[in-house]
Amino acid sequence: MDSCLFCKIIKGEIPSSKVYEDEYVYAFNDINPVAPVHILIIPKEHICGAGEVTEENSGNIAKVFEAIAKIAKRLDLKDGYRIVNNCGEKAGQSVFHMHFHLIAGCEMGWPPC
Ligand code: AMP
Ligand code: ZN
Repeated sequence: MDSCLFCKIIKGEIPSSKVYEDEYVYAFNDINPVAPVHILIIPKEHICGAGEVTEENSGNIAKVFEAIAKIAKRLDLKDGYRIVNNCGEKAGQSVFHMHFHLIAGCEMGWPPC
């Protein structure tokens, strides 16, 4: 996806503050953090959103969650963290390359709205 912001970040065409990378996953600090820890974890394969996950590409999402567990251990997020995926504009999705927000380091309320 030539025009996709996050595909460009994966390719290094747009700079990012990398937190983690493996064959399937890339993670970087959110440019506009909403909490002391705010990391975006993305599959390297371009998947637009949660609604486009299929039997063929879902392995990438499993890899994302393996990476999240590693990052959380590395950052020692013992007090807990939240994983958020916004799916669709009304839910707040602004970049249409599927991504998961890892948020930590503050008290969080529930429900969100
Ligand atoms: P969402 O609104 O769920 O689609 O999340 C998109 C996130 O991408 C937002 O939290 C933005 O702050 C973040 N973002 C947008 N551009 C960049 C960038 N160049 N580097 C890092 N994070 C970005
Ligand atoms: Zn993309």
